[in-house]
Amino acid sequence: MGRAFVYVILGGGVAAGYAAFEFSKRGISHGELCIISEETFAPYERPALSKGFLLPEDSARLPSFHTCVGTNEERLTPKWYKEHGIELVLGTRVKSADVRRKTLLTAAGETISYKILIVATGARALKLEEFGVNGSDAENVCYMRDLADATRLVSVMQSCVGGNAIVIGGGYIGMECAASLVINKINVTMVFPEAHCMPRLFTPKIAGYYEDFYKSKGVKFIKGTVLSSFENDTSGKVTAVILRDGTRLTADMVMVGIGIRPNTILFEGQLTLEKGGIKVNGHMQTSNSSVYAVGDVAAFPVKLFGEIRRLEHVDSARKSARHAVAAIMAPEKTRGDFDYLPFFYSRVFTLSWQFYGDNVGEVVHYGDFSGRSFGAYWINKGKLVGSFLEGGTKEEYEAIAKVTRLQPVVADIAELERQGLGFALSV
Ligand code: FAD
Repeated sequence: MGRAFVYVILGGGVAAGYAAFEFSKRGISHGELCIISEETFAPYERPALSKGFLLPEDSARLPSFHTCVGTNEERLTPKWYKEHGIELVLGTRVKSADVRRKTLLTAAGETISYKILIVATGARALKLEEFGVNGSDAENVCYMRDLADATRLVSVMQSCVGGNAIVIGGGYIGMECAASLVINKINVTMVFPEAHCMPRLFTPKIAGYYEDFYKSKGVKFIKGTVLSSFENDTSGKVTAVILRDGTRLTADMVMVGIGIRPNTILFEGQLTLEKGGIKVNGHMQTSNSSVYAVGDVAAFPVKLFGEIRRLEHVDSARKSARHAVAAIMAPEKTRGDFDYLPFFYSRVFTLSWQFYGDNVGEVVHYGDFSGRSFGAYWINKGKLVGSFLEGGTKEEYEAIAKVTRLQPVVADIAELERQGLGFALSV
């Protein structure tokens, strides 16, 4: 048995939703496009899961955060897909792909063929077992990647009010979930091996600000060590965690955020891979001309840096998806290369920050680190290449984005430090 479509989007996450929106804007016929997703929901804005979804009151629930509300565009509910003749094949895992024959085989045994495939399979959360620790399947150990994980976390949180949560990992998933746990009246201890939180992006000074803020909310930090094992009760529930440095912490629940791995497995040996993802050109086209890749799974040329990067951020998922569809549907001579300025943001408690560009080279901090208005620039080879700002207004964020894209030469670092945000606002 089988079905045939002109366009198939494999994966039903953020990138899939934005790709579908772009297809509909550019005009496709009913029955030409289908989205195949292992999840049982139409595409939604994944970042909501560790923010509004975890709030104890007025929590965000579907259908309120289906794509594309994240960019203030139409909200694509299941009804929208129906009205636009886009087939949603949900709750369906694709177990193999054959790019030569242009077919996908689902776990249920159906063959779905395509003329053009967009791979939007995103990434999966890394498990503790991949680091040699067993016990991920205990009922009070949580991960955070999809709606099923978030729903589970909510129910575990509700049973732990007043108790102790151990958050493993100091990246943004750990930080956002820790904030939500505190808001849900749970005592939080964060454990990570690095010297400070958000080590891939934050400088020690920036991290110090957020860690102090978290401490003021009662969060404890144990750094420079990792989880080594769990203690469980007779029902298998985790009751304590043991760290490599010998520390034992009693636990009513554990939240694990230790990174992700792109879902490339279906295409290994069939498409060229790079940086752990599927390599694409400036049209988001892979080494097979009928296959495109977008979102977290794609490694694409970032023109601004002159190199291939794989980004794990929602803005890149949205824009790469739209760019791929534009490249597929636009007349050849109007097709340009994806020219993307990397952008990443997070919101925790009452704080919120944005980052643009690249965090390499010398760092210049500015502003008031005892208040809530501070930032940083990164200067590499004499040019401004990255900008960070906490608590900015819309205009201020637009200004740091603009200055980062322009990459101005910085002759006098002390002067840049003195001008601070004013430098971006004056460009
Ligand atoms: P995903 O959204 O992960 O979608 C992948 C889809 O493919 C899923 O539906 C999956 O089930 C499906 N799939 C995979 N394999 C198969 C298969 N074999 N068969 C069928 N279906 C399959 N970014 C930011 O910039 N700021 C934030 O504040 C932020 N917050 C986040 C909070 C959370 C909790 C998470 C998990 C991510 C957050 N991100 C954030 C990152 C952002 O959500 C991702 O970059 C984005 O979702 C990537 O989109 P994607 O479509 O590539 O992948």
